Amino acid sequence: MSNESELAVNNQPFLKSGGIAGVSIRSMDWSVHPLGVPVDWPEPLKIAINIVLSASFPMAVNWGPDFYHFYNDAFLPLMGTDKHPGAIGRKASEVYSEIWETVAPFNDKVMNGESLKFKDMHTSLYRNGGKEECWFDFSCSPIADDKGIIKGMLIIASETTEKIINERRFEETTEQLQAINEELTASNSELEVTQENLEEILNSLQESEQRVRSIVESAPFPIGVYVGREMRISLANQSIMDVWGKGNNVVGKLYSDILPELGNQEIFAQLDAVFTTGVPFHARNQRVDLVVDGLLQSYFFNYSFTPLYDASGNIYGVMNTAADVTDLNIAKQKLEQNERNLRNMILQAPVAMCILLGPEHIITVANQLMIDIWGKEEANVINKPVYEALPDAKGQGLEEAMDSVYNRGETFKAMEQPVSLLRNGVLEEVYQNFVYEPYRDSEGNILGIIAITIDVTEQVKSRKLLEVNARQLKKFNDETIAANERYHMAIATANLGTWSVNLETDELSVSDRARKMHGLDSDESLSLTESLQLVSPEFRDKLAGIIEQCILHNTGFEMEYQIQPKDGSAAKWLRSTGKVYNNERGKGTITGTILDITERKLDELRKNDFISMVSHELKTPLTSLSAIVQLTQVKLSSNDDAFLKEAMGKAYSQIKRMTNLINGFLNISRLESGKIYLTKSRFDIVALGREIIDDLSIGSEGMRITLIQSGPIDVFADRDKIGSVIINLLSNSIKYSPGDSTIEVRFEAKDAFFEASIKDEGFGIHEKDRERIFERYYRAQHTKARMVSGFGIGLYLSAEIVNRHEGKIWVESEEGKGSTFYFRLPL
Ligand code: ADP
Repeated sequence: MSNESELAVNNQPFLKSGGIAGVSIRSMDWSVHPLGVPVDWPEPLKIAINIVLSASFPMAVNWGPDFYHFYNDAFLPLMGTDKHPGAIGRKASEVYSEIWETVAPFNDKVMNGESLKFKDMHTSLYRNGGKEECWFDFSCSPIADDKGIIKGMLIIASETTEKIINERRFEETTEQLQAINEELTASNSELEVTQENLEEILNSLQESEQRVRSIVESAPFPIGVYVGREMRISLANQSIMDVWGKGNNVVGKLYSDILPELGNQEIFAQLDAVFTTGVPFHARNQRVDLVVDGLLQSYFFNYSFTPLYDASGNIYGVMNTAADVTDLNIAKQKLEQNERNLRNMILQAPVAMCILLGPEHIITVANQLMIDIWGKEEANVINKPVYEALPDAKGQGLEEAMDSVYNRGETFKAMEQPVSLLRNGVLEEVYQNFVYEPYRDSEGNILGIIAITIDVTEQVKSRKLLEVNARQLKKFNDETIAANERYHMAIATANLGTWSVNLETDELSVSDRARKMHGLDSDESLSLTESLQLVSPEFRDKLAGIIEQCILHNTGFEMEYQIQPKDGSAAKWLRSTGKVYNNERGKGTITGTILDITERKLDELRKNDFISMVSHELKTPLTSLSAIVQLTQVKLSSNDDAFLKEAMGKAYSQIKRMTNLINGFLNISRLESGKIYLTKSRFDIVALGREIIDDLSIGSEGMRITLIQSGPIDVFADRDKIGSVIINLLSNSIKYSPGDSTIEVRFEAKDAFFEASIKDEGFGIHEKDRERIFERYYRAQHTKARMVSGFGIGLYLSAEIVNRHEGKIWVESEEGKGSTFYFRLPL
C-alpha cells in the first residue's frame, strides 16, 4: 500500500505539518516498516519528528540502532534531488553510503551521549545529478527516551557552501586586487615619467604643427583645410587662394561663401560626403568653373578631399589638395584635336592615306581609298601590323623603305612602283606613286609613318598598252606604206586613176591618170559637182544618186558609166569605185579608183549587138519551129506512136528553153540600151505561178514541185516579166538540184507586199558566190553547180525586173543543203 495520497492511518497530529517531507511521511505504508505505524512510534521519536517537520531550517532525525532517517523540506537542498523521497524512514547508512565511513565514528560518539558540532564541514554529496563539493555547519545531539536511554539523534545543519565559495572568491579577488594595486603603483610612477615626456612632446608638437603650417603655406600646390560640416576654412595656402581668385582674406569664412559658383558643380556634395562617411574623394582631370577676375572660367584639376580625424577618432574637417592641370588639359585637348584633325584629313583625303605606328608599323588609320588599294576588308587590317594585315606585300622592298623612314626619319618616295597584292582574293600587280613621311610628335620624336599613295595602275597599264599599240601602229604603218606602194604600183600597172573628194569642201582631187581620162589640164581643179557634168546625161543622175547614198550610209559603190571628156575628145566608158571615210566630225572623204573601160565596153557592146542581132535572127525561125512542133503535137494527140509523142514533147521543151535563152539575151540588150519597159496590169500571180509550174513539170519528171498558197493574190505588175522571173528561179532550182528532189514554191500576201519563195534541196551556194550571183554573166565558182551549163544572165535579169518593180530579191542558202530564193513586190 503506497501512493501519493496521504494514508488516513498516518494522519497523526505530530505529522500534520512538514510540506513535501510531511506528505512523503504521511503517504508511506508504515505497516511494512520495522518501526510499524506512526501511532505506535515511541514518544521521543514523535516529538523529534514534530520539531523537525515544523522547523524552517534544515533538520533531520536518525532513529534507532539502524538510524532510520527523517528530515524536513529545508534539509532537502542538502540531500539534493536524487535521494528524496526514498530516503524517508530508510537506514542512514544506505542513504549516505558515500560518506558513511567518515560519519560513522561521529555517530557512535553521539549515541554515547556526546553532542557534536562541526563548522564548515567539507564533504562531497551526490546530488542534483552529480558529485558536488559542499560545506556544512553541523550539530548532532542525542535523543533519549523517558528512561534516559539514547535511541536516536537530532541533526541540525546549515549549508555554508555558498559562503565558503564567496570567501574563496573574495580571497582570489583580493589577491588580484593586490596584484593590480602593485601594478598600478608601478604604472603610476611610469605615468609620472610619461607626463614629463608628454609635455616635451606637446612642445615639439606645437613646433611641428608650426612647421607643417609653414610647409602648407608655402606649398607650391593648392592646399586647404575646412572644419566642421559647414566647411569653415581654417587653413588655405597662397596657392589655393590664387586658384580661387577671391583674395587672401578667406580663413575663418565658409567655403560655400567664398566659392558660391561651385554650388551647382557637385563639389559641396563631395565635401559633405567625405565629412559624413570618412571615405576620401579623388577626382582626376575634373573641370571646375571658377569666377576669377569677375569672369566665370573653366579650369581642370586633379583634386582630393581627405577626412581629418581628431584624437577621439571623430571627423572634424576635410583637407583639400589639388593640382591645376588646366594647361596640361588644354595641351591634351589640342593634341587630341590635332590627332582628330589629322585623322579626319586622312579619312577625307582624295588620295589614299594611312598612318602606321611604331616599329611594327601598326595600321591605325587608313582611308577608304587606301583600303581599296589593299583590296582587303577594313576590319582585317585596322590596328594590325602592316605586314600581318598585308602578308602579300612582304618581300617587295617596302619593309626596308618603311624601316628607314621610321628609324632614320628619311622621307621615302617612289614613282610607279609595282607591288603585287592579293586583292579581294586575286593576285594583282598594282602600280603606285607613294611617299612615306615620318610622323612625329611635338618634340620631334618619330611615332610612325604617314603613307600617301596614288594608285597609278590604270595609267601605267594604259601607257604600257599605248606603247604596245604604238609599236603595233608603227608596224601597221610600215605595212601600210609598203601596201600603199604596192597599191600605187598596182594602180600604175592597171592603168587605174584615183580620185578623192573632200566632203566638207566638195573639192575633188584626181590622179594624173584620172585627170587625163577626164581630159583635164594638169593644173585645172574641179569640184565633184563640176565633174558630174562630164558624165553622160543618161548616167549622171544615177551616179550622183549612188554617191549620195554612199555618203549617207557610209558605204561604197561601183558603177560603169560614160563621160564626155572636157577637152572634147571622144566619149569614154569608165568604171568607178568609191568608198566613204568619215572623220570625227562626220564628214570625211570619199575616195576611189577610175578605170578606163572604153575598149572593153565597146567590145561588149559589139558582142551585145551581135548577140542581139543573132537572137533576133534566131527568134523568127524558132517561133516557126515552135508553131510546127505544137501543131505536130496536136496532130499526134490522136496517134498512138509513143516514141513520136515523147520526141515531140522533148523537142517542144528544148524549143522553149531556147526561146527563154534568146529572150534573155534580147532582154539584156534591151536593158542595156535602156529599151526595157514595164507593161503593168492587175493579175493573179498565184495562177501565173501554177501555170509555170505545170509547164516546167513537163520534162522534169522525178522532181516534186509543190505550190503552197492561201488563195489568189492580185498584183499590179508586168505579167510577162514577173513570169520570166518565176521561170528563171524555178528552172534554176530544177537545174541545180539532183533529179529526185522536192521544190517548194510558196506564195504569200504579207501586209503591204507579196512574197514568193522557191526552196530547193539542191547543191546550195557558197557564201562567196552568194554575194555575186545577181551580177551579169556571173556563175558560181565554188559548187557542183559549176558543172551545169548556163550563161549567168537569169538572175541578173530577174533582179533588174524586180528592182524596176520597186521590189526586192535575195537568197538564203547553205552549201550542200539547198537554197531558197525570195522576191517581193509591193501590193
Ligand atoms: P545560169 O544559171 O545560167 O548560170 P543564173 O543567173 O540563173 O545563170 O544563175 C547564176 C548562178 O547562180 C548560177 O550559175 C548558179 O551557180 C547559181 N544558182 C542560181 N540558182 C541556183 C540554185 N537554185 N541553186 C544553186 N545555184 C544556183
